[in-house]
Amino acid sequence: MTPKLMKKKHTRYFHIILQMMPSECPDAMRLTFAFFAISGLDLLGALDDYLREEKEDAINWIYRLQISGAGPRSGFQSSTMIPKEIETKYHCGHLAMTYTGLASLLILGDDLSGIDKESIIEGMRACQNPDGSFTAMVMGYESDMRFVYCACCVSAILDDWSGINKAKAIDYILKSISYDGAVGQGPGLESHGGSTFCAVASLYLMNELNNVLSEKQLDRLKRWCLMSQDGGFHGRPGKPSDSCYSFWIGATLQLLGVKELSDCEENRAFVLDTQNTIMGGFGKHDNKRTDPLHAYLGLCSLSLIGEPNLQEVNAALNISQRAYTHLLEIQERWKNK
Ligand SMILES: [Zn+2]
Repeated sequence: MTPKLMKKKHTRYFHIILQMMPSECPDAMRLTFAFFAISGLDLLGALDDYLREEKEDAINWIYRLQISGAGPRSGFQSSTMIPKEIETKYHCGHLAMTYTGLASLLILGDDLSGIDKESIIEGMRACQNPDGSFTAMVMGYESDMRFVYCACCVSAILDDWSGINKAKAIDYILKSISYDGAVGQGPGLESHGGSTFCAVASLYLMNELNNVLSEKQLDRLKRWCLMSQDGGFHGRPGKPSDSCYSFWIGATLQLLGVKELSDCEENRAFVLDTQNTIMGGFGKHDNKRTDPLHAYLGLCSLSLIGEPNLQEVNAALNISQRAYTHLLEIQERWKNK
């Protein structure tokens, strides 16, 4: 029998993640873990209950991670391990942190009045490579589809696309389409559920999804995604189902407009089986080893297929629809300034 969604346990799980943040979380992942927990609580409708008193502190902490006026090194960093007072070349924004930092501020109800838009855009622009891809940070890091997606999220949130050479980014995405119709992390690389989501969501956020892909390319993408369901979804052929792909591929199917063609009930049963019914959280394949990423994306995937009592998730930006509506109000105010 399919277990029920253990809302109270997951709420407690995310709250514990936030409580453990000061000591138990690796520095390079601090902001990402905070985002999973904050957005997870939001989807559960428990943000106000659990963060009533800490909300202001959380917002202030995220703003302390912002590096502004540092030219190409501007953006958000993952932690305050290096005190900001120390002027150092080691402070550097990271695109995934800039995206999750801005998203977390939105979810917490902040109006983004403390962000330095120009600096963020300058930092992001410096991360784009000549082939159109993005590196995570200008000090040097991996470059691939993940950071094209982060750059698109940041641009969509700021409602300003001047930090991206869109034509080059689109060219990089098109060149990364593999022989089987889905998308790899870069040209010539194997198709993967995660990079396929990043590519499709990037084109969607750029409002180019149906302009740059032909009917045939869209059909092949849809087919690849639908064929990766075997109960839940796997990220690559021959791999077992993994709860995070119920989001990566489920969200891709939603953006492509064919989510209904997948078997939502089987997917739901798989994801619910990966939840730890004692401690809360979700695992990859089973319910024993949970982690914040699978806990959050497991919830997101259930929200996508309309799980009752969960906030609706915005598939392209991976935040709640509630937070997205708050963003649209902020953008309206920016326009009228
Ligand atoms: Zn996974």
